[in-house]
Amino acid sequence: MKNIFLKRTKIVATLGPATDTPEVIKELIKTGANVFRLNTSHGSMEYHREKIRMVKETASQMGACVATLVDLQGPKIRIGNLKDEIMLKDGDKIVFKHSLEQEESSYIPVDYAGISKDVSSGSRVLIDDGKLEVKVDKVEDDKVYATVVNGGVLKSRKGLNIPGSTASLDAVTPKDIEFIKFAAEEKADLIALSFVREKEDVLLAKKYINDFNSSIPVVSKLEKPDAIKNLKEIVSVSDAIMVARGDLGIELSPVEVPICQKLIIEESNKQRKPVIVATQMLESMINEPIPTRAEASDVANAILDGADAVMLSGETSVGRFAVDAVKMMSKIAMTTENSCFYQFDTDTEPDDEITLTRQAVVFGADKMLKYVNAKAILSFSHFGYSTRLTSKLKPSAPIIMISDTEETCRKMALAWGVYSFCKKWDDTVDAGLLLKIDEFLINEIGLKNNDYVIITGSAPRLITGRTNFVRVHKIGT
Ligand code: ATP
Ligand code: MG
Ligand code: MG
Repeated sequence: MKNIFLKRTKIVATLGPATDTPEVIKELIKTGANVFRLNTSHGSMEYHREKIRMVKETASQMGACVATLVDLQGPKIRIGNLKDEIMLKDGDKIVFKHSLEQEESSYIPVDYAGISKDVSSGSRVLIDDGKLEVKVDKVEDDKVYATVVNGGVLKSRKGLNIPGSTASLDAVTPKDIEFIKFAAEEKADLIALSFVREKEDVLLAKKYINDFNSSIPVVSKLEKPDAIKNLKEIVSVSDAIMVARGDLGIELSPVEVPICQKLIIEESNKQRKPVIVATQMLESMINEPIPTRAEASDVANAILDGADAVMLSGETSVGRFAVDAVKMMSKIAMTTENSCFYQFDTDTEPDDEITLTRQAVVFGADKMLKYVNAKAILSFSHFGYSTRLTSKLKPSAPIIMISDTEETCRKMALAWGVYSFCKKWDDTVDAGLLLKIDEFLINEIGLKNNDYVIITGSAPRLITGRTNFVRVHKIGT
């Protein structure tokens, strides 16, 4: 089997100034990036349009199957555009004012009109995932006067949180709607929704997606205390989940993040939805060529918790060692997956929400795999639904999906252990088709005659029908 099939955990890499050329994108794909994230909080729509096209084109030239994820800013308050970075020292006095641009250096612009209403004397304000902290002294008209408690370098567009205050912003902001339209136009593969509080937020985003005649799957970013309370319901209406640890660590506290991460992963796995762990995974690699031991452990532990994917943010968007970060993450993933600790009890009860036939086939495939020591599961699927169910069982061999649509193939870039290929093979299974399958397994996957694979699909139409068969196949026989 070719070694590109060795890494099962998926890697999401955020694109930014450090990585936005075809050459670097190509390197990131080669070293293990499966999904490219465009963070709409940073950069213009035109920037993102150019980049999404660049990713698609680079991937298609390489014949690689990678997905694009448009991450919506959501109701997040941010620092406006600064003339220059500002060095804030403890005890410094500063003034915030609503404005997108910094016209004078006497104040710091904040992009939220309600800033002077949502804080009062004594309020804590956290900036840049909590790295900087200030305390409000007084509010006068539209100006917020504050003192720096924890200083640092302040840069444009950094997030600003007022813990405990629910900013009076809609779950899907006007800017998000613009970017949903953009995602639909550019045929992005996934949309991430920030600051989800309840299932209605997800349904609202889906309504807008539908309004633009699209059905792009929604990744719900869980980063609010309310989201943890409504976890079950939110997971049930989402297509995938992200443990967005940056804002979660501010909205709750860093102390609670590890347990929340486990709870969210457990619930996502129970409901068989892909789950991504994000933020600060290899943070020190923004400036250093190797990660701290704590970071390496964090990536490994997220994988051992049962995450499908791990994400890089600043490490790849602005980091000095972007390609090395992806390489490092891939190595940690493979080492962890091959360790004796990587074991999951996936003998789950049937789920009444999912057709029983499909579940039976997929469970069967996972069991049969072990009997014949099969080298792969070959999963034929139109929408990728049964492939996703297979993925959630974390079978001991790679899942090779064949779908008849490119869209389904790319969507599965997030699913653990799945490698997708687009082929128009929606025929009935006969000797001719089996020959084609063997040729594919030998030439494209690197398997050999007499290797076993487990095939799942549907009969009589192999791909477009409902998944209803599982079959042991020995190549060349
Ligand atoms: P979120 O809450 O959505 O994670 P964030 O501000 O934390 O937003 P990340 O995507 O986590 O952003 O990236 C970390 C940092 O990398 C950002 O704060 C920003 O400084 C930088 N960054 C990310 N994408 C870009 C971009 N396209 N252009 C410029 N800087 C970027
Ligand atoms: Mg972040
Ligand atoms: Mg966030």
